[in-house]
This record gives sequence, structure tokens and C-alpha cells, in this order.
Amino acid sequence: MTRPFNFSAGPATLPEDVLQQAAAEMLDWHGSGMGVMEMSHRGKEFISIAQQAEADLREILSIPANYKVLFMQGGAIAENAILPMNLSRGARADYVITGSWSQKSAKEARTYCDVHVAATNEADLHTRMPAYGSWQLSKDAAYVHVCSNETIHGVEMHELPDLKALGSDAPLVIDCSSHLASRPLDWSRVAVAYGGAQKNIGPSGLTLVIVREDLLGRALPITPSAFDYQTVAKNDSMYNTPPTYAWYIAGLVFQWVKRQTEGALTGLAAVEARNIAKAALLYDYIDGSGFYENRVAVDCRSRMNVPFFLKNETLNDAFLADAKEAGLLQLKGHKSVGGMRASVYNAMPLAGVQALVDFMKHFARTHG
Ligand SMILES: *Cc1c(COP(=O)(O)O)cnc(C)c1O
Repeated sequence: MTRPFNFSAGPATLPEDVLQQAAAEMLDWHGSGMGVMEMSHRGKEFISIAQQAEADLREILSIPANYKVLFMQGGAIAENAILPMNLSRGARADYVITGSWSQKSAKEARTYCDVHVAATNEADLHTRMPAYGSWQLSKDAAYVHVCSNETIHGVEMHELPDLKALGSDAPLVIDCSSHLASRPLDWSRVAVAYGGAQKNIGPSGLTLVIVREDLLGRALPITPSAFDYQTVAKNDSMYNTPPTYAWYIAGLVFQWVKRQTEGALTGLAAVEARNIAKAALLYDYIDGSGFYENRVAVDCRSRMNVPFFLKNETLNDAFLADAKEAGLLQLKGHKSVGGMRASVYNAMPLAGVQALVDFMKHFARTHG
């Protein structure tokens, strides 16, 4: 059986190998007589799964030893509140607005701290990242928050800002939900990286928070204990019952990342090379087509989320129906942007993007 290609923005397609392995282990994990969902999170079986997943993620992303990896719940939207509770001390925090997700983050944070908008690309309709040199950073911010890949608008920071060079001593916090583990991360620039798992890592229900140790222990008294980073860290993410099955699947995905090869490249480097090739294939076709368009500035285009429009929007419904018929699922754009969106996360093979481009060519030929 061949499965259709699924371009959902999240929850999103997972590597077929991972789904097969999870299916094979569903009733009996490694001879334990239990499925992973049925195990105590405190038993030796699950603890081994949990530790292996963390070790593999640390290896893939080269996470320094002075960062904690927290396996939490609530998604990035809950983090919009949890983060300022943990880091702001109720004081000022800088937010950079680059699209819907960072806008939501800033709005929610206002309940907990004094939000200063350091830059915004609203005037450009979120089609380019505001130039780093234009950011108005505060002298005394508890942190600077950015969304490094805007899933809805399709803009990505291809190089993270060097806050020191921009005159700020504040730690940089990134919402990297939709491109975590799609490329290496420069830890010399990042103090906290967080994201929901359901884009690139695994099922929904798991939220990863990777936080520099010196930032622990600052939570406001109102912080629920299950969401206090220090409490979560001290308890190895088992203060409350963690999302065990999602953690397990994330672990299988990390092993899948480690197994990938592309020419001489292996692991994350191979995955990144493939992501670059996939994005280039799709954007190059769109730009040259005359039939479709992408409105994002070329140097800010996301490798993961590609919003595009048919120049003749009366054909949208026909495009989506024919795409589905051709085995290409979930291409409808976010309602706030319209048009189409192809999310091409790590688990989307190059063959899936090729199939999409072939379909788009055929559709353009028959409707042009
Ligand atoms: C999907 C997404 C969110 C929202 O995640 P939830 O799991 O629904 O809380 C927030 N930020 C970014 C960048 C996202 O891609």
C-alpha cells in the first residue's frame, strides 16, 4: 500500500518507518509484555525510553551540557504564558512580531510582564523578517522572544540574531515549534528554545523546552508547580505524569533522524540538506510558473511551510479537489492567509515534493 503525501502544517506526517515500528511494538514493547502506553512512567522500561530519547535529541542538536531538556505539555500556546511566568520576574520583556504566532505570544505575555514590541513586520504583511539592525531592544529586558519560523506566514530566520552585537544582554528565547530539528541550532545565541512536537518531532501533546540552567529558579509565585521549569527539571520531567507515548514516538523520530544519509552527509546534516533541496524544488517551480505565486521575500522564505496562491483564485476549490484525488492531502492555506500551504517537514520525502510539483504543473497546463 502506498500512502498519500500529507502536507498538513501540524499535526503532520511522520516517517513511515517510525509508524511501522510503533505498530510492531504496540502490544509488546521489547518483550516487556506491555505496550508503551500501558507502562508506568517510573518503571525501568519507560525510563530507558525517556533517557534514550533525550540523549538522541542532545546528540542531534548538539545541546550543551548546561541546558536542560524538559518534556512538557500544553503546546507552544501554553508556553506563551508559562514562559513569562518562568523568566520575566514580572518586569519588561522584548517581543519581535513576525507573524501570527509571535503576535499571539506577545498578547498572552502581557498578563505577566511588561511587553515591549522591539520590532514588527506588520507593515510588510509578515512577508519578511524585520532587519536585525532595526530592532529597538530594551536596556533591561528579562528576555527577547522571537518566533524563528512562522508556520502560518512562511517566514523563517535563517540566521538567529546575535543579541550581544545588537546591544542587548538579554537571553534569546525562540519559539521553534515548526522547524525544530530541521537544521542545527546555534546555542551561543539561544538561551531557551521551545516548541510543540506535532510539526517535526512526533504526536501532539508533547512540548519540548530546552532551557539554559542559569535561567531556572526565577518563576513567579503564581506559576503552577507542574509548569515551573525548575521543578520540572529537578524531577527529570516526571513531576507530573509526562505524555509518555508522545515522548516514545519522539524518541523513534530522533533515531530516524540519526539514521538518515544524503550523499556523504548523515543525521541532521542529511535531513537539512534534503530540506534545502525540497524547498528549492518547490519555490523554484512556483516562481517560474506564472500560474502560482509565493509572496515572501526570497531570503526569508521558510524551508518548512510554503504558502502559495493560484493567481486565479476561482480555481482554489478545483485545485484542492484534484490534489486530493492525486494523493496530495491538506494543502489548504491557513484561513487568515488564504490560498494554499504546503508544509514540508523532515518526514516529507523529496518524492512527495516532486509529486506536488508534477501535479501543480499538470494543473497549470490544464487550467491555464
Ligand atoms: C503550531 C504552533 C504553535 C501552537 O502550538 P500548540 O501546540 O497549538 O500550542 C505555536 N507556535 C508555532 C510557531 C507553531 O508552529
